[in-house]
Amino acid sequence: MAGQAPFATVRAPITGARARLFTWLVHASVVVIALRAYRSPRSAWRALQHIRRLNGTLRGGEHGQKYYRCGPRVFWTPIVPQWPSRAFVRFVETILDRLQSFRPADVRLGSVIWAVSSRCPLDCEHCLEGDNLGEREHLTFEELEGVLAKFRDLGVVQVFFSGGEPLLRCHDVCRLMAGAGPGIEFTMMTSGVGLTLEKARQLRRAGLRSVQISLDHWDEGKHDRFRGREGAFAWARDAARNAGQAGLLVGFSLCAVRDFVNRENMWRYLELVRSWGGVYVRILEPRAVGRYAGRPVQLDPQQSELLWAVHDQVNTDPACAHLPRLSCPDYDRRALGCFGAGNRMVYADSRAEIHACPFCQGSVGNALTGDLASMVEGMRKRGCAASRTAPGVPQVLVH
Ligand code: SF4
Repeated sequence: MAGQAPFATVRAPITGARARLFTWLVHASVVVIALRAYRSPRSAWRALQHIRRLNGTLRGGEHGQKYYRCGPRVFWTPIVPQWPSRAFVRFVETILDRLQSFRPADVRLGSVIWAVSSRCPLDCEHCLEGDNLGEREHLTFEELEGVLAKFRDLGVVQVFFSGGEPLLRCHDVCRLMAGAGPGIEFTMMTSGVGLTLEKARQLRRAGLRSVQISLDHWDEGKHDRFRGREGAFAWARDAARNAGQAGLLVGFSLCAVRDFVNRENMWRYLELVRSWGGVYVRILEPRAVGRYAGRPVQLDPQQSELLWAVHDQVNTDPACAHLPRLSCPDYDRRALGCFGAGNRMVYADSRAEIHACPFCQGSVGNALTGDLASMVEGMRKRGCAASRTAPGVPQVLVH
């Protein structure tokens, strides 16, 4: 660590009275957007009440809200664009349109997890990408540009670059963001391998807002073994430092495997990522797909409960205000329905094949050559097979 810059960018959360003020300002901006959209105070008020009701069903909902500053914007959850921003306005308009249509088209997609690279330097034990990984990229830059244009036409406001390792295509990713126009927020989901300060600054200049770094254990050796490469932990740590110094918001994702899930591990992990400048952790429960296919990897119900209890405590207990915000998509899925399957999000693999989500793979067509709107509409009608929720549940996550 000698000679290394410190984690100077550890962000203190905004809590208490200032957080309540931000909540009020965000709500006020939602009302303004709704008034502009509906041209009816009554409809705008009803929409706001609906949004508040649905948020109340989420664990940690509006209580104990934490905000983080990111330049002129604030952040509170990775699934809502930072506020204020053009992406946030488009995000809210999409929700309003689903509550009471005011736009001509009825297909509105919020976000996409997009594997822009098929190359990867790691060999993770839970990898879902097996068949797609290789030595060369499947799509040219021009083809990626064409796919991004289709996502934009469907209303996408959040793009999560994934892979493979998207950093291996840093130059193309920068060109994509620079040419995307306003109203789309970009996040990179990365192992962190190769995220130098220079690359982080380059990405920031091109329009990247945040990185979500995979970190699966607080113990260096265990993380390296999980990721199949010695040095992966050190890269994740350096990536967090470099991203923070470049002005990017830093979050982490944790694949919470059976051996890991206990209170002590969770607490040590959270303290570590806080010290690395992380403002949120997305906790993913393992599923028996990809390299885990056929293996008993699913958490016991008690372990899921433990994760959610930690989630509630960290997000609502004032004594945990210094810890990063937690997000458990599996809990949200059970409470609000699946976000994937075209309901709010789709997954595009490195060949531009469209899937319900990274876990529920099964192509419904190719975004480059096919009609993306029909694919998404078809998926929405069928709904999510894994969670068996009614299709088309409106996903509303504006605090
Ligand atoms: S970093 Fe992602 S794509 Fe690469 S081996 Fe790990 S899970 Fe697979």
